[in-house]
Amino acid sequence: MDSFTLAVASALAATIMAVSMGLLYLASSRRVCLFNWAVAGLFFTASSSIVACAIHFQLHDVRVPAFGNVLYVAGHYGILAGLRRHLKLRPRWDLLAAVALLVFGVHLVPALQGALTAVLVPAVVAIDLAVARLLWRQPDREARVAYLPMIVLEAGFAAQQGVRILADALHTAPGMAACQFLQACDALFVLVFLSVATMSCALIVTHDQTRALRRASLTDVLTGWLNRRALHDTALRAFQRSERSGAALHFITFDIDHFKSINDRYGHGIGDAAICHVTAVASRVLHGCDALFRIGGEEFAVLVADSRADEVWRMAERLREMVAALPLVTEGRAVAMTVSVGVAGLDAGDLRWEDILRRADEALYHAKQNGRNRVSVHGVDLDGRAYFIQTA
Ligand code: GH3
Ligand code: MG
Ligand code: MG
Repeated sequence: MDSFTLAVASALAATIMAVSMGLLYLASSRRVCLFNWAVAGLFFTASSSIVACAIHFQLHDVRVPAFGNVLYVAGHYGILAGLRRHLKLRPRWDLLAAVALLVFGVHLVPALQGALTAVLVPAVVAIDLAVARLLWRQPDREARVAYLPMIVLEAGFAAQQGVRILADALHTAPGMAACQFLQACDALFVLVFLSVATMSCALIVTHDQTRALRRASLTDVLTGWLNRRALHDTALRAFQRSERSGAALHFITFDIDHFKSINDRYGHGIGDAAICHVTAVASRVLHGCDALFRIGGEEFAVLVADSRADEVWRMAERLREMVAALPLVTEGRAVAMTVSVGVAGLDAGDLRWEDILRRADEALYHAKQNGRNRVSVHGVDLDGRAYFIQTA
């Protein structure tokens, strides 16, 4: 392929990038990163079009490659800017302006034109490595799979540019054929870069959106705790782990006492605030346990793995005490609340995690039946009969 054809192909690939990122921006929740990537695509389109026109019309004005190269650097920076936006960081537009001015200036000053490659290529390499480093250092392991193509692409492109600098340094005056070959390689790499960058950007956003949707489908909107749908997967995993390792597994369940009367007396709005208040207090007591579930209107379950029975009982008792001690203060009123709590642990004969939850519910029912505002612990005697211990 000759240079003109490659430049036209790059312009087409860049247009596809701009259009697909623009359409994703409009179709998704208008993420700024997609807008940045659409603009990056436009910069690349303009840059490749300028190169194609310069070759086709044999333009020799130095401002033509100057604009082309500035747009090329801006395209690379646009990818970095989009990623920074995606990671909730601010892009450094001042840095881009400085590099763009430098690249433009080098073209216009005849004495500096020999240093063009020494300025342009390192600038692009620095931007590409910044992208790869930024993504590589992200602690979110689950997102790594979506970042990987972009990391490989940017690091690979930077390596190719590095080889190019090296080749230029070793052959200070390359022959015509070698020079054309290197230019064709460059153009081919740009073509591949643009195609893979489009896919990588789309992958990052779709992966992120899928995770956000999944998170939302597993989270209760009012309290932020996990919902019943999440309970199944989490409890099953914990149950299987405990079966294998023999580690302890407990459920604490609790329900707000006489909650209907809170709704009736203060209204549904304060009822909602009361539910949030109880979960906030419970979160403080149960910090360290991240498996907190809202399993009904004002019924909750906590999955506690790897803790001794007496520790779990103490945790449940402290939860009861704290809720009773800290009323919800709202609109100048103190809304006092109590909770009844049930506790049950994994038994040797349990076949399913639901068996533990059922026994914790039985214990909760026992606490309700025996005056509320108390903790009941489910036990099984040697004959397999259930009994309950009240910790308060
Ligand atoms: P008990 O001590 O036996 O638990 O009595 P209770 O009045 O709390 O009875 P129950 O647990 O059956 O009450 C559930 C009530 O919770 C019924 C429903 O109106 C209310 N509720 C359920 N979900 C919500 C919610 O999201 N917001 C509000 N404000 N109320 C809710
Ligand atoms: Mg209740
Ligand atoms: Mg209830």
